[in-house]
Amino acid sequence: MKNKNEMLALINSDKTPRLVPPLGDFKGVIKTRLEEIHKHTPKLHPLFFRVYAGQTGLTEAVKAKCLDCCCWQIDEVRNCTVFTCPIWDFRPFQQKSGKDNVEVKQ
Ligand code: SF4
Repeated sequence: MKNKNEMLALINSDKTPRLVPPLGDFKGVIKTRLEEIHKHTPKLHPLFFRVYAGQTGLTEAVKAKCLDCCCWQIDEVRNCTVFTCPIWDFRPFQQKSGKDNVEVKQ
């Protein structure tokens, strides 16, 4: 895993594919958000980096959305009770029925 300076250098470089959406005005906002994520929960930084860079599919995007919604707390996502949320049934970290152990993928 890259350290913070290496990651920030990568973020700032122009070599990163599709780091920002086509609306370039968001670049600064995304950079700030990635810095916050790296500061508070560095383990999740690679996930959010890949999502913002457009290097993932929907599954990782949903995972990032739920983690973002729950201040990066996996247990909060697992125990989410917002049943009206359109992606509730697809949220990550759900406990599989009939199993004792919870499968958590980072
Ligand atoms: S399913 Fe729950 S945790 Fe995920 S985005 Fe919706 S409200 Fe947030």
